[in-house]
Parts: sequence; C-alpha cells; structure tokens
Amino acid sequence: MENQREATVLRDTQVQIDLGRMAQNLREIRNLVGDQVAIMAVIKANGYGHGAVGIAPTLLENGADYLAVATLTEAMELRHAYPKAPLFILGHTPDRLLSYVVENQITQTIFTLEQAQILSELAASKGVTVRVHIKVDTGFHRLGRIPSPEFRDEICQMFGLPNLEVEGIFSHLALAGKAEDEAQYQTFCQFIKELEAAGCTFRYRHIADSIATVDYPQYHMNMVRPGAILYGMRGFTEGVLPIKQVMTFRTAISQLHQIPAGQGVSYDYLWKAEKDSLIATLPFGYADGYPRNLRDLGYVIINGIKAPIVGVICMDQCLADVTHIPGVCCGMEAIIYGDGHDGSMTIEEASKLAGTNKNDIIARITARPPRVYFGGEAQS
Ligand SMILES: *Cc1c(COP(=O)(O)O)cnc(C)c1O
Repeated sequence: MENQREATVLRDTQVQIDLGRMAQNLREIRNLVGDQVAIMAVIKANGYGHGAVGIAPTLLENGADYLAVATLTEAMELRHAYPKAPLFILGHTPDRLLSYVVENQITQTIFTLEQAQILSELAASKGVTVRVHIKVDTGFHRLGRIPSPEFRDEICQMFGLPNLEVEGIFSHLALAGKAEDEAQYQTFCQFIKELEAAGCTFRYRHIADSIATVDYPQYHMNMVRPGAILYGMRGFTEGVLPIKQVMTFRTAISQLHQIPAGQGVSYDYLWKAEKDSLIATLPFGYADGYPRNLRDLGYVIINGIKAPIVGVICMDQCLADVTHIPGVCCGMEAIIYGDGHDGSMTIEEASKLAGTNKNDIIARITARPPRVYFGGEAQS
C-alpha cells in the first residue's frame, strides 16, 4: 500500500481511491443481503471512474461473486488482467463477437434462441461450456424480451443445447415508483414460475440494482447487482446503508497570477476581477471529465477554504479565485471532489450543480487523471 502511494505519480491531478472504504461498503451490502444472496458487483464504465482493473481484486476479496460490465471491451480489459475472475456482460454482444465471449469464459446476457445456438456451437468447437443469463423485459423496454409463450419455449430449448449453461435470468427496474416497480417484479416472478413449471430452473434470479437492494429487500431474490453503492453513492430513500464515498479528486496549484481590477481571465474574459485579485491556475479541465458547465458554480477546497472557479473551464486547466486564502502558494493541494468533511464538494453536490446525476459525475472522469489506490490490495 505505502509503495503504491509513494510510487511516482506523473501528474498532480489524481483520482485517489480508498480501497478500505470500498471493501467496507461491500461488507455493508453483504451484511444487508445476507449469505444466501450472491453479489454481482457492477464495475462498468471503468468502475464508475474508479478504474475497473484497480478495484476488481478488492471486490473479489471482499465477497463479490461476479464482476459485471456493460460491454465486451470492458470484459476483455478485465480478462486480460485477471484470467480467472468471474466476469459478466450486462449488455448485448453482437453475433460476430460472440467467439470472444466463449474464448474468454465470460458470462453473457442473451435474449434469443439464435444467440444461444451460436454460443453453444462456438463452445462445442472449442470443447468448453459457455454460461448465459436470460434478460427479461418487464417494462423498462431497454434490453430483453417481454414474457410470452414463444419466449418461454425458446428459453426451454436453450436448456437443451449441449455446450450452453443457462445459469441465470434477470430483469431491471425502471424505478418509476413503488407500484410500477412492484408490477415489474410480479411480471418477472410470474414468468419464472411458468418457466419452472416447464422444467427450466435457474441458479441465479436477479432484478435489484443499488437502489432496489437498499429500498426493496423483498426484491433481493438470490442475487443483487449493486453499482453506485459500492462507490458510496446514495440514491436510496427508504432503507439504511452506512456507506462512504470512495473517491477523492484532487490537484495542486500550478501557478498564481496577480490580476488588477477590471481585467478578465480565460477565454472570452467571461469573468472579470472586481478588485485586485489573486488567481490560481489549476491543471485540470473538462478533458479530465470535469463538467464544463460548472463555470461560476464550481469550487475547490484549498487549505480548508473554498476557492471559486472563475472564467471558462478549459480542456486541461481552469482558474480559481484564491485572493482570500492566507499563505496560498504554488504546489498547494486543491480538492476538486471530496467526501465533504473538509468542506469539499461531494459527488452529490457536483451532480446537483452540473444538473445531472452522481453516476454521471464519476463515470465521466476520463482515463487521463491517474488513479491512485490506497488502503487495500490493488493493481494500479
Ligand atoms: C448499471 C446497472 C446496474 C447497477 O446500477 P446502480 O444503479 O449503479 O446500482 C445494475 N444492473 C444493470 C442491468 C445495469 O445496467
């Protein structure tokens, strides 16, 4: 851990990841769902910006039964790093790419007999078995098929394919409201009942994302798919889960400028100094994933004091007013997103100011800022 912390990080703008907190968040989820419910840890979109490869070992060592991503490309990155990890693709993989799924022993989401047949044939040619989970559309209308006698019959035929293991069945809630969610859940359960009556049984049945995992314990079935709560993002409203934000986004001042009253800064001079001001240059910008629309709204914390971002946020740099910060100097740390204990902007606050949601704020942090892991075992 210390070695990783002290290894040379080639940039001051860094995403720091507290793996101890992530492990604790996962243990809280385990505590909530109990031992009989499997946990599929969702680490799509580069682990919601935390670095999927960097966080995977911590999740597996602390009780995750599966690692889920959205795409084949994401699964391949993880497979390359972890030859034995249980990997799951939540999204659709086109027919022409299914051989990668088979070769890399990835569990694939499917919803047609055609894809099941292709997968089984590919697996047969390689002398292996491929695992799939069936996606059921219970109202979201995003991926999967609506329950029907035809769909049921196709699924039952999948069970007869020699090199295919139908390991699970799942659906996804729209979270449109309690009544709507219950209707989706009932539709799902009814379809599973029909399938079971036809002799098709599933090792895993799942519908709950983070919010449902906390707010609807009655929907845990025997697997849950938490994403946001692993990272300490609270979206739930009814249940309780003592989780903590895992990420800190930080940088350091690269330059200071004395700006006389009346002069503008950054593109188009959209901010002008009302009085003689001290302006700090900060080496992060929208190409790091910072929302460009936080101009005149965003701030960083320097020495515990708020420094408002002024002027247009550039691709790689932005400016902050530090006139009121005593002893401010080059190289001083500036917290971009923190857990709030030091007055820092939390992910939650950033999402509100930027007019979006928390997952968007963290998932949009690009690959450019180095991820620095501490507080646990990880590969960076
Ligand atoms: C992203 C995703 C999840 C996790 O969502 P959170 O709200 O972050 O918990 C679960 N299931 C599916 C199908 C997803 O696409």
